[in-house]
Order: sequence, then structure tokens, then C-alpha cells
Amino acid sequence: MADPSSYHFTLPKSKRPSEVTLNEPWYPGVQPFWPACTTKRSVDPILGVTAVVIHATAGSSSAGAISVIKRAKDPASFHWLVPDEDEPQHGQLVWACVPEALAAWHVRNAASHPDVNGGATRVNHWSLGIEVVNAQKNDPFSDWQIEATARIVRHCWAKYPNLLHVLSHAKLDPQRRSDPGSHFDWARFKGLVLNGEAEAVDPLVALAKPLSKLKPAEANGCCDV
Ligand SMILES: [Zn+2]
Repeated sequence: MADPSSYHFTLPKSKRPSEVTLNEPWYPGVQPFWPACTTKRSVDPILGVTAVVIHATAGSSSAGAISVIKRAKDPASFHWLVPDEDEPQHGQLVWACVPEALAAWHVRNAASHPDVNGGATRVNHWSLGIEVVNAQKNDPFSDWQIEATARIVRHCWAKYPNLLHVLSHAKLDPQRRSDPGSHFDWARFKGLVLNGEAEAVDPLVALAKPLSKLKPAEANGCCDV
């Protein structure tokens, strides 16, 4: 079984895409919560971004993950959210959750790994965070969730010239976190990112469907910081 704490690859400058579009509407109602769940980046918001961290929510809905952004006590945050297969947005869009220019709170400040930026801490300041809705224990990821996550990473790769590391939360914080988990097909994901097949995923650029089918917020949310 795959070990999520080993999930990591780097992006070769020679293969950097020129532009990759995303269908990424704001998750409804998140804007008022940004001041309480983000920080001004300590590095240049474009040139200083060098990593993308892949997470899974350990919950079963987008609304449950978003409830972590909205909670008053110990909020967490992430830049994008990839819907689960039973949600109407699956196959259609990924949610933008907080501005990329701000540091989202998706990795504990003390977490680090010697393979990544020389073991630097405060990962949130120099990274972007993607959450994939997945309940974890024995919940498979859909093919589209892997493709959509790869497309987000390619979007970032095109936009951030110094982006180098793509890795799991588990690699940065193995004592506390195992996400995105052993069911996330990291090998396929890596191939989609590096070879650009994710750009062939047509549904991700399709128009968003109505939001009326969103589930109510759940008590459990994503992995926190
Ligand atoms: Zn996580």
C-alpha cells in the first residue's frame, strides 16, 4: 500500500506550461471569513511560492470542509477545494476558497521536511494548499478528482515561475497527518501533472451548475493546521 508520507515530486522548468485555465468560482459566502483564516505572505506572493501541498478533507462534503474556514475557534483554510463524486459540482468545477495572494492555514507552522526548501518551516507562507473532499478510510477518489487536482497544479505551475515542489501534507507532518492517504493515486496524479494530460479534462472548464444541491455544513471538517 502506498505511503502518503512519501508523496513528493518536483516540477522541471523545461516542461512548465504557458497557461492552464481553471473553472474556479468562489465557494459561496467565504469572503467575510478571510481576515480570520489567512495571513499576509512573508514572501513575494508570486515569486516566493515554491510548493503546492495536497490534502484530503477526512470529511464527506465540500460544505463540511468549508465549515472549517468559517468556524470561530481554530479556523483553517486552503486555496482550492475539489468536490466529491456525489456533489453536483463534481466534474464541473473546483472551488476557490481563499485568495492565492494570501497564506492559507493548511500546514502547522512547525511542520517541515529537509527535502523541501531546505527544511524551512512556516510552509503556509511559501505554498498553496489544495483540499480534495474524501472521507479517507476506504473512500476511493474519483478519476476526475485526481484529474482536477492535477489541473490545479498545472495552473499553479504556469502561474508561479519558482514553483518546484508538489507534495502531500503527510510528508510535511507525518506524526499527525496521513492525507491525502493511501487511496490517492499519486503515480497517476504525477503523470497527469508532468505530462499535461489534465488539460484534456473538458468538464473542468464547463459552466458551473446551480448550487442548490449543496449539503448543509457538517460538524467534521478538513484536516486542520
Ligand atoms: Zn491536510
